[in-house]
Amino acid sequence: MTINENLARLKKEIPGHIRIVAVSKTHHASEIMEVYDTGHRLFGENRAQELIDKQPFLPSDIQWHFIGHLQTNKVKYIAPYISMIQSIDSLKLLTEVNKQAQKYNRMIDCLLQFYIAQEESKFGFDRKEALALLNSQEYKGMKNIRIKGVMGMATFTENLNQVRGEFRLLREIFQYLKSNIFTGDDEFCELSMGMSGDYQIAVQEGSTIVRIGTAIFGERTVA
Ligand SMILES: *Cc1c(COP(=O)(O)O)cnc(C)c1O
Repeated sequence: MTINENLARLKKEIPGHIRIVAVSKTHHASEIMEVYDTGHRLFGENRAQELIDKQPFLPSDIQWHFIGHLQTNKVKYIAPYISMIQSIDSLKLLTEVNKQAQKYNRMIDCLLQFYIAQEESKFGFDRKEALALLNSQEYKGMKNIRIKGVMGMATFTENLNQVRGEFRLLREIFQYLKSNIFTGDDEFCELSMGMSGDYQIAVQEGSTIVRIGTAIFGERTVA
């Protein structure tokens, strides 16, 4: 199947209210343009340097979502155009995003990344750490960021019950924050979960944003 057949199949299968981030990491501008030319505008990258290198060569109406661990010293380069940073994993990072957004006189949408997997390598908050951030004076003073929801990655495993349990945990965290911190805030509405291997489960568990690379572009040849 071609890239566009893959995407068309996914768009048919995934309910229309769920947004699909086409994760284009490692893929060239020509492949991204193939998808762009079908009318798709939402793309995701997980390495800042790669996004910084690619973005100037691609149409400016692409909505870029950043989905990987972001170093604070890279924020300034993507702040002028990034549409959403899904991978906020520290107060320090959020502070820098707010500062750079202010510099460019914009509002940057963010998601808090939660650690839900049983894997060492994944980034993200636990509930207590997130509450400490959300209750801090620093956060309360931030005018140029908007926290729109949560993001998480399930364990890379064949055990689908485990994956489902992790997505349920993320949904429960989302609902907890919605009831206790973002009460009545309609902007807090996003639950970003699901990748090529587990998006079907994520959709069943209430995902509003899926992040799909391999199932659109094919296997990545580089890491
Ligand atoms: C690479 C990546 C994806 C997409 O992974 P696929 O398995 O290729 O769909 C989703 N989310 C994050 C955070 C990623 O780094």
